Amino acid sequence: MQETRDTIVVGGGIAGCTAAMYSIRYGLDVVALEMMAPGGQASTATTIENYPGFPEGIQGPELAVRVHQQAANAGVEFITTEAIRIERTEGDLWTLYTNGGDMEAISVIIATGAFPRSLMVPGEKELRGHGVSYCATCDGFFYRGRTVAVVGGGNSAIEEALYLADIAEKVYVIHRRDELRADDYLQKRILERPNVEVLWNSVVSEIHGEQAVESLKLQDTQTGESTSVQAEGLFIAVGHIAKTEWLHDTLELKQGFIVTDQLMRTSQPGVFACGDIRDTPLRQIATAVGDAAIAAFSAHSYVGQWKSEHPAGG
Ligand code: NDP
Repeated sequence: MQETRDTIVVGGGIAGCTAAMYSIRYGLDVVALEMMAPGGQASTATTIENYPGFPEGIQGPELAVRVHQQAANAGVEFITTEAIRIERTEGDLWTLYTNGGDMEAISVIIATGAFPRSLMVPGEKELRGHGVSYCATCDGFFYRGRTVAVVGGGNSAIEEALYLADIAEKVYVIHRRDELRADDYLQKRILERPNVEVLWNSVVSEIHGEQAVESLKLQDTQTGESTSVQAEGLFIAVGHIAKTEWLHDTLELKQGFIVTDQLMRTSQPGVFACGDIRDTPLRQIATAVGDAAIAAFSAHSYVGQWKSEHPAGG
């Protein structure tokens, strides 16, 4: 086992790098764990136009590398390894088991992220970034006056459809059942919009287009019948998958996401979470960096308190 750190940040995406950078600036002895290439979700985004400070937009991978570099310049040590398990150990410390050995810390900040669930249909992978999107807030702007479709019937899908209805000329909502899962107030709002049409009992079975999305093949979930709709954008909002399996029930989760309070404190003392891994209604780079700054602030307070209660060091 290595020396006891003040803080271990798990995750090398934008949230993790920001949390590590803030932690080091708070004077904490911090190490950040990352699995592979830096960047997390942001590194798969194309142009990011809604993150302040980049009036011309910035490519996702470039922003991810810049944030990583900024953390490294601040003195953050990055270790490439996979966290496997976390456990509260003697002396009110946390042990993190990784495939590169065990590590011990007073506090842990979890920023392992989430990824949008995909439809796994032909054309989805090929046209990702060319009409297929998982974030209307990020990409909706490109579809002013055009026809788009949103897949899903939950709160995310309906919020995305409402957002797009203000921009696009026509929005199809494609839902696999005959009733929406979204909250009543959202349902009421979407059904009132004249430029929104809900295609009930329908799934997207194929996405077509040469250079970009042109049309969608739909299948009726009750009759099996196939139809086609023209759309230039397809926004897939069928949920996210959180990267929390490795926590093995150590923390309180809601639908797989870590429950935190406003100070990013989880259900366990000394463990904080930030970014897409949190149970939150909005998953954006702007929210991730805000969460991360607060998580580092909270970790700093916790470590200070811990040290005053454990003058001999645990
Ligand atoms: P949800 O799991 O709530 O909804 C996912 C939707 O996608 C469901 O309608 C589901 O259909 C559909 N779906 C799932 N898989 C497929 C598939 N393979 N093909 C077609 N459709 C599919 O996810 P959300 O991201 O919408 O929300 C996640 C959580 O975040 C929820 O708790 C939600 O309430 C919360 N949230 C809250 C917001 C708010 O309060 N303003 C905003 C956004 C999210 P079916 O209904 O048939 O299962």
